[in-house]
Amino acid sequence: MKIGVYPGTFDPVTNGHLDIIKRSSHLFDKLYILVANNMNKKTLFTTEERVALLKKILREYPNIEVVTSNLLTVEFAKSVKAEAMIRGLRMVSDFEYELQLATLNKCLEKEIETIFIMSSHEYSFLSSSSVKEIATFQGDVSKFVPKDVEVALQRKLNK
Ligand code: ADP
Repeated sequence: MKIGVYPGTFDPVTNGHLDIIKRSSHLFDKLYILVANNMNKKTLFTTEERVALLKKILREYPNIEVVTSNLLTVEFAKSVKAEAMIRGLRMVSDFEYELQLATLNKCLEKEIETIFIMSSHEYSFLSSSSVKEIATFQGDVSKFVPKDVEVALQRKLNK
């Protein structure tokens, strides 16, 4: 059984992330979406909110499980016997950071590969931070995120 892990902050999940998730779900028998629980990174949505949104949006995918963990990402991947971790690549600007991360992870755990999936062209400009920026100014984010995320953003930002 081939097992994959797609780690990320998903603050919030966008159609770009979902494109990577759906495409990777065909490559593995089981795909874990690992929601980062990083105390040092300031997020708009709590870990529980990010997990709940992803669970709701991905409920119809039987081979996908949304989780969070206090383990280091490679340790989590090892604990579920994953073969590989997935990361998405948009622009050349993602490359340097992703290469550094993949190289570090390989040093920590040489059995686990990082596989990069290139963003589909329609999402190559899309990031969680730009979605948050647009939503903060009451802009229309309906093209960029699922309905549940749009509603969650409105609720959060109108508080
Ligand atoms: P992180 O804080 O781990 O970078 P993100 O949630 O921002 O978390 O991103 C998780 C992964 O998804 C990263 O590999 C990132 O490059 C990728 N990603 C983010 N947005 C997109 C997109 N629009 N298309 C493809 N990949 C994306």
